[in-house]
Amino acid sequence: MSNINGSIKCTISNCKHFDKSNYCKLNTISVGGDCSCTDCKGTECRSFQINN
Ligand code: SF4
Repeated sequence: MSNINGSIKCTISNCKHFDKSNYCKLNTISVGGDCSCTDCKGTECRSFQINN
């Protein structure tokens, strides 16, 4: 297991910060979105970066 953040579970496997254990490798992430959202689908991880 690499340097994962055990507090941030994630399944976005095409992100460069994703670890195959389904955790994020960043120390912190930024979550944003439209504040009129009514469920989790209206939120987003703004720390996402495409894994080329
Ligand atoms: S930066 Fe966001 S999308 Fe990428 S692995 Fe971490 S939590 Fe998932």
